Amino acid sequence: GFVAGRGGQMYECACLLDYALKKKGVRDKFEIHLFSPNIEPGETGAITDSLLERGIILDYGYEPAEFVEGGMLDADGSFRKADLILFTPGITAPEWVRKSCLPVSAGGHIDVDKFGRVKGLDNVFAAGDCSNHENPPPWVPHQAHMAQLRSAAAAKNMQAVLKGRKPSHTYRFELSCILNMENDALWLHAASDGKPPFWNIFPRHSKKLVTVKDMFERLYLFYLRYL
Ligand SMILES: Cc1cc2nc3c(=O)[nH]c(=O)nc-3n(C[C@H](O)[C@H](O)[C@H](O)COP(=O)(O)OP(=O)(O)OC[C@H]3O[C@@H](n4cnc5c(N)ncnc54)[C@H](O)[C@@H]3O)c2cc1C
Repeated sequence: GFVAGRGGQMYECACLLDYALKKKGVRDKFEIHLFSPNIEPGETGAITDSLLERGIILDYGYEPAEFVEGGMLDADGSFRKADLILFTPGITAPEWVRKSCLPVSAGGHIDVDKFGRVKGLDNVFAAGDCSNHENPPPWVPHQAHMAQLRSAAAAKNMQAVLKGRKPSHTYRFELSCILNMENDALWLHAASDGKPPFWNIFPRHSKKLVTVKDMFERLYLFYLRYL
């Protein structure tokens, strides 16, 4: 069977594998498992419901000790067979950061304050996946969208510092992504100011969100390539 582990994008991978195997008419020949050491066994919610509806076996709380040829090893040495394992490790700053003069947070990121200033260093800023958040809510992700919000704040703060002013720009915490399951989709959203995505004009649970996600992707690629 297939095993998908850890990280938001793996929910999507597991559901898309389910869809692809059903389309080929061979779903009953495979088991799909989703494991995550970060999720408590018995966790409930819209994502868990979607996984269960698709017959995906939940190994919440499970952590393999090692990935080996043909499967995974548990801490006690027992072997779990798998044809394919998809796994995304936690995002941390690159190894060279640890060897540099930059301060590193407990989670392995460049340690910055809420303005994006690197702690203990003058006029040094960091934003995006390489850096931590100051006092984040527990759900805050390392996402492209979050990187965009915090780099905009860091850039404004750098500009302020260059003009002899104090940094004052902060950013809002927001988790927003469309979970594409091909035959269905969920808009997962949380924001520190409680604001809904796009004034709530889109449904939160609808197959139509697959088209919306595709549209956003095209818009972003156009913006990044040409604007
Ligand atoms: C599988 C996967 C799926 C994801 N899906 C989503 C999603 O659906 N939505 C979403 O919002 N986010 C998603 N993310 C997260 C998103 O990709 C990141 O949060 C985002 O890219 C962070 O942007 P960044 O600019 O901080 O870092 P990056 O995009 O990682 O950019 C850092 C750049 O620095 C370069 N670099 C590194 N070291 C050096 C060096 N020494 N010298 C010069 N250059 C260097 C790297 O090559 C890279 O180009 C996903 C991530 C993964 C891994």
